[in-house]
Amino acid sequence: MNSYEQIAKNIERIKKELGGRARLLAATKTVPPEAINFALDCGIDLIGENRVNELLEKYELIDRSRTEIHFIGALQTNKVKYIIDKVDMIHSVDRVSLADEIERQAAKKGIIMPVLAEINIGGEETKSGISPDKAAEFCKYIGSLPHLKLRGLMAIPPKSENFGDNRKYFCEMKKIFIDISALNVDNSIMDILSIGMSDDYIEAAECGSTMVRIGSAIFGKRNYPIG
Ligand SMILES: *Cc1c(COP(=O)(O)O)cnc(C)c1O
Repeated sequence: MNSYEQIAKNIERIKKELGGRARLLAATKTVPPEAINFALDCGIDLIGENRVNELLEKYELIDRSRTEIHFIGALQTNKVKYIIDKVDMIHSVDRVSLADEIERQAAKKGIIMPVLAEINIGGEETKSGISPDKAAEFCKYIGSLPHLKLRGLMAIPPKSENFGDNRKYFCEMKKIFIDISALNVDNSIMDILSIGMSDDYIEAAECGSTMVRIGSAIFGKRNYPIG
């Protein structure tokens, strides 16, 4: 992990580059709670965690009075119950069975969980997410669940070779976002387009991202797969 000094510099630079276009969500997998709290001092807007166990381990030590915690990783249906009252949003709702389980657990707790529909924008077989042609139908389904609130869309585009490669995917996401916003889905406020990571957040911001999810460009390299 980078030194605190480097982390502070990275956050300052990224915020400048974003120029207020998108909120800065720090993807904090593998990052210890003290470093997360330091990053909050430096002006990140909020954090996102990927793994249920890791989130539960760090939960009490994160300064939650200063941040929302979003869940951004692949989520097993049987683990929803552990995080339902600990996270402020789930970005990775990628299938009906997961939406149904969030509905069930949120209803039990008497809360309404803000969610994003994850779109498989590159049409990759190995990647989770709803295919773009089924996105509207899926979002309407989410809208039918009373304890979910649809807040927008999330995507992880294919791994790119060159700067600029992902622009087309981000622009497609923006189009889908506009189309689905126009449907006025029940129980929705479509205000979040969660696209852009360490290698492509500038392109994402140019294409209309409202929330970039950045890990290694802040904290340094990690030995930890995305997911
Ligand atoms: C790890 C992760 C990120 C951030 O990845 P970096 O390339 O380190 O910026 C963003 N989104 C998700 C879902 C992730 O798991």
